[in-house]
Amino acid sequence: MNEQSKISELKGVGEKTEKLFQKLNIFTVDDLLHYYPRGYEIYEEPISIGSAGEGETATVTGSIYGKVQVATMRNLQITTAYVKDLTGIIKVVWFRMPFLRNTLKSGSVITLRGRIANKKGTLVMEHPEIFYPSVSYDAKRNTMQPVYPLTAGLTNQTIQKAMKQAIEYLDLKQEFLPSEIRMEYHLAEYNYAMRRIHFPEDKESLYQARERLVFEEFLIFILALRQMKETNARQKNLFTFPNEQEIDRFILELPYELTGAQKKVWEEIREDMRGSHVMSRLIQGDVGSGKTVIALLGLLFASLNGYQGALMAPTEVLAKQHYDSICELLKTHRIPVRAELLTGSMTAKEKREACGRIESGEAQIIIGTHALIQEKVQYHSLALVVTDEQHRFGVKQRENLSLKGKMPHILVMSATPIPRTLAMIVYGDLDISVIDELPANRLPIKNCVVDTGYRSTAYHFIRKQVAEGRQCYVICPMVEESETLEAENVLDYARTLQEELGKTIKVSYLHGKMKQKEKDAIMEAFVQNRIQVLVSTTVIEVGINVPNATVMMVENAERFGLAQLHQLRGRVGRGKYQSYCIFMSASKTKETKERLEILNKTNDGFKIASEDLRLRGPGDLFGIRQSGILDFKLGDVFQDARLLQKAGEAANSLLLKDPKLELPKHQNLKEYLQNYIREGMLETTL
Ligand code: ADP
Ligand code: MG
Repeated sequence: MNEQSKISELKGVGEKTEKLFQKLNIFTVDDLLHYYPRGYEIYEEPISIGSAGEGETATVTGSIYGKVQVATMRNLQITTAYVKDLTGIIKVVWFRMPFLRNTLKSGSVITLRGRIANKKGTLVMEHPEIFYPSVSYDAKRNTMQPVYPLTAGLTNQTIQKAMKQAIEYLDLKQEFLPSEIRMEYHLAEYNYAMRRIHFPEDKESLYQARERLVFEEFLIFILALRQMKETNARQKNLFTFPNEQEIDRFILELPYELTGAQKKVWEEIREDMRGSHVMSRLIQGDVGSGKTVIALLGLLFASLNGYQGALMAPTEVLAKQHYDSICELLKTHRIPVRAELLTGSMTAKEKREACGRIESGEAQIIIGTHALIQEKVQYHSLALVVTDEQHRFGVKQRENLSLKGKMPHILVMSATPIPRTLAMIVYGDLDISVIDELPANRLPIKNCVVDTGYRSTAYHFIRKQVAEGRQCYVICPMVEESETLEAENVLDYARTLQEELGKTIKVSYLHGKMKQKEKDAIMEAFVQNRIQVLVSTTVIEVGINVPNATVMMVENAERFGLAQLHQLRGRVGRGKYQSYCIFMSASKTKETKERLEILNKTNDGFKIASEDLRLRGPGDLFGIRQSGILDFKLGDVFQDARLLQKAGEAANSLLLKDPKLELPKHQNLKEYLQNYIREGMLETTL
């Protein structure tokens, strides 16, 4: 078996399982190996029942006390047992496992591992894993078991089994990191790291494995970026922009004055677009700093000069929103430019027609999702591509867009607060502009961190805000009820909240599993204030702009990364009204409270993310991912900022000594790198 073997060659992976793996983009053994755990279950020493505390996952050993009962509630069969040891007794429940009534006998000794919840004042262990007979726990005791992201039908156990085989039978791979780098940065060997990232012996070996793999991931990324940059050495700018008056008129006619930062950044863009080489620029600006209008200026500038401009948004909801507001602006300012929407969910006919207008040049500003580059769109005269709030736009895509020989200008917009030094590493080939000022009419958002006891007060507050004509968001971590996770879900929550708020207030919901058409309809209704309260998952996290919304309430705030909460908070406070953010936490621990309080103290996105990191400490390797920026498989630009910096240094000194990686000792690295570029890995991460 080698890395390129199909996963169906593994024992236990039949046709059906293979299909499931393929859903996760796992086709070969190599894909499987790079499918990393999202966390680990640590099978700790059992504790006494009396010392078990709310909210923790614990292992206890005791004897079953009394009869095991099964009851049915709302179609859910719930098995209940009591387990006791010398120190206490605890209630245990399982869902949908009625057969346990027959296997668990009163008086027998059992070991259970599960999460302890507080149900109306009593501690309950929910849906624990069962070790029966009790000694069977010894095999797992003190081990760390990988937990993989799953897809319906594929269990963690199946993945674990396949992974074990892959690791055991695979021939060892040649190390490809040069030994001088491994020595200098104390990096573990490749095969060792692979083995230990999946099946760590202990925390220490996991730490080493991860460090190596993250470093490698960053290093290869940076090297690939450098190589691409070289082959794409600054292209000549083949566009001219003689018409400047109309864009100036447009700026003067805007209902607000651009902030100083916006003016400065717009000047930089204008200079670039008229410069001798094509633009590659990153615009960084915190949420609400007014990036959209800057993008629009660029697009207008292109179209007023006879070219096309395209704007690519990360979601259809956002694309539609941009399209609507751009159409509105064109109309208000009587600008004879045609905007066109192109998204994946349009019908084949709609797409064909849109593409026709794009090809003929009739459509001048084109707004869409990834469809803009995927649907084999032929542009008539594309001079500018703007990508909003997203980063998956690689050099390859850019080349695709420039088929007709003219490389378009590129503008990348990001609200991810990443410090300049790091940005310069990960966006190696981009110039950076920063919008470091919020529009002046903004009132600072008022925040509070509360526990669930505050909920009725919050509802009262929402009612008052709606009565004043405002709108609200409520964010829940989950779409629907889950058996194993205790957290609010959008569907049930929206129903309850509707009952709570009464008929005069319209509550609706939004989540990522809904059809595009439904999502659009809901967003549309919310924009028009036909819906006053929108219950949603984090799908609304990026970009949505409804200035009339003034309340952002986040349920189970403890489950989100602070950077993410900061993004969510950015959805309010976008207009002239005082806005409020309510972070509601179901956890009463001091740590959670302290973490969430950071949001109260500062509004600076990067400070928030780094504070979060500091509080959780470096030991929390698999905490909540912070940045969501650049989809690295393991690495996280924030969390692993230190490694990113080091990988940047390593790349520099490597290329200084051997710019083309020609030395024999760099042969393996070179091959690996070429493979990485050939497979388009850079495009998927950028
Ligand atoms: P983001 O940077 O998060 O993408 P937007 O571009 O969506 O922010 O802008 C947020 C809101 O601020 C919008 O309603 C926009 O019309 C408004 N806005 C943008 N620039 C200014 C300005 N200079 N003065 C006042 N309001 C502005
Ligand atoms: Mg935006």
